[in-house]
Amino acid sequence: MQKLQNYINNELLAPVDGEYIDNVNPALGEVYSLCPSSNEKDVQLAVDAAKKAFRPWANTPAEDKFKILNRIADIIDQRADELALAESIDQGKPVWLAKNEVIRAAQNFRFFATAAMHFASESHITENVAVNYTIRQAIGVVGCISPWNLPLYLFTWKIAPALAAGNTVVAKPSEITPMTAYMLSSICIEAGLPAGVLNIVHGLGPQCGKAIIEHPEIKAISFTGGSATGKWISQTAGPMLKKLSLELGGKNPNIIFADCDIEQALKTTITSSFLNQGEICLCGSRIYIERSIYNTFKERFLELVKTQTVGDPLLKETRIGAIASKQHYDKILRCIETAKQEGGTILCGGKAIVFDNHLKDGYYIEPTVIEGLDSNCQTQQEEIFGPVVTLTPFDTEEEVMQLANSNGYGLAASIWTTNLSKAHRVGAAVDSGIIWINCWLFRDLRTPFGGMKNSGNGREGGWEAMRFFTEAKNICIKL
Ligand code: NAD
Repeated sequence: MQKLQNYINNELLAPVDGEYIDNVNPALGEVYSLCPSSNEKDVQLAVDAAKKAFRPWANTPAEDKFKILNRIADIIDQRADELALAESIDQGKPVWLAKNEVIRAAQNFRFFATAAMHFASESHITENVAVNYTIRQAIGVVGCISPWNLPLYLFTWKIAPALAAGNTVVAKPSEITPMTAYMLSSICIEAGLPAGVLNIVHGLGPQCGKAIIEHPEIKAISFTGGSATGKWISQTAGPMLKKLSLELGGKNPNIIFADCDIEQALKTTITSSFLNQGEICLCGSRIYIERSIYNTFKERFLELVKTQTVGDPLLKETRIGAIASKQHYDKILRCIETAKQEGGTILCGGKAIVFDNHLKDGYYIEPTVIEGLDSNCQTQQEEIFGPVVTLTPFDTEEEVMQLANSNGYGLAASIWTTNLSKAHRVGAAVDSGIIWINCWLFRDLRTPFGGMKNSGNGREGGWEAMRFFTEAKNICIKL
C-alpha cells in the first residue's frame, strides 16, 4: 500500500515516529493508502527548515519568486488530469469537478505570483513636515491549515500568498484528503522551490495541527475549517499574540424574490445546493422563497433535483459523488433524522444510497430537500455541510432579512431579484462577508473573501491576503 510522506527541507520523509493513518477512498469505503500521522517532532523539523530558509527567501527578488510560483502553476496545469483523478479518489467528488478545482489551484499560484511583483509600499506626505512610507515585510514562518472539502484548491489559496509575501510555510492538509497535497511536494521540488520554503506535514488535527498552532516560532496562522476548531485556535493562539485568519463554517441563505429571473435562479440554486455533495462552505443551504412563487419554485426545483445523478465519482455523468468520510456521512444522516424529529417534511431524498455493485461500501446520500421547519430549530441553525437544503416561504423584504440574519453564521448569501434597489438594500442588510446578487460562487481572486460572526474573522484574497501575510512598518522622515 502506498505510504505518503512529509515534505520537509525539500525532502520526502517518513514521519519521525513511523506512525500512519488509513486513507480511505470514500467512493468504495476502502483504505487505499497511508497518510503520515506526524507529531510535534515532525513539526519541529519543518519549523527548523522554514526558519533557515526564511531570510534567503524573503530577500529573493520578486521576479524570481514570481518565476518559481508560476512554474508551480504550470506543472499543476500539466499534471491536471492526474491530480484531478487523485483528488476525486481521495475526496469522493466527481472527477470533472476535481479537474475544475485543480485548474483553480494553478490559478491561485499564478495570481499570487503576480502579486509578488505588484505589491507596493504606501506613502503619506504631511505637507512641509514629514514623509511617511509604509513598508510591508514578510512575517517569518507561518502556518497554513486546510480542510477536506476543496483539498488542493484551499491548500494553495493559503500557501501561494504566504510565499508570494516572502514567508516560509509549515502547512498541513486535512488527514482525510492528503493525496494532492502530497503530490504538490514533488511539483514544488520539480519547480525549483528552494529547500525549506514550503514544508508539508501530514497528520491529525489535535496532534499535528495542534503542534503547528502552539509552536512559538510560527508567527501567523491561516486556518480554514470548522467553527469549533477555529474557536479553539483563537483561544490557544490568541494569548500568544499570533496573527490569525480564520475561515470557518457557513449556513448560507439563498433568497429568492418573486421578481427574479426564475430560470436562472433555479439553475443556479441546484448547483449552490448540491455541488461537491453540498460540501462547500458557500453552499446556500437555507433557501427562502417569496410566497407568491413558493409552490412553482418548489415543484420545478424538485424536478431538477431528479437530474442530480448520484454515483461513481469517476463517471462523467455523475453530478453528486461520495461523502468524504464515514464519520461525515453518519453526521449528515443524523442531521436528516433531527430534521424529521423537528417536524420537517422530507420532499425528496432523506436516505443513504446503497448500491449493489462495486460502490456498495461507499458513502452516498440522496440529495435531500426539507420544508416546514422553524427558523430557530437545529436544522436551520447548524451547518450540515452535505446535500441537504431547507425551503422556507416569506412574505416581505423585512421578514426575509430577519430570517437571513437569524443564524449564528455569516459567510455568504445569494439574493435573486431583478429590482436593483432591492438587491442593494438586502445586500447591505444581510450579515455575511460575501453577497452574490443573481449568481453564486462567482469569484474574482482580487476581492476580499471571508465571513463574520461564527464564520470567522480576517479576509483572504488579493491584497487582503498579502496584508495578512506581512507586517506593516511605517517609517517617518522629518523634512
Ligand atoms: P476541521 O476544523 O475539522 O479541520 C480543518 C483542518 O484543521 C484539518 O486539517 C484538521 O486536521 C485541522 N484541525 C482539526 N483540529 C485541529 C486542532 N485542534 N488544531 C489544529 N488543527 C486542527 O474542519 P473540516 O471538517 O476539515 O472542514 C469542514 C469545515 O470547514 C466546515 O465547517 C466548512 O464550512 C469549513 N470550511 C470553511 C471554508 C471558508 O472559506 N470559510 C472553506 C471550506 C470549508
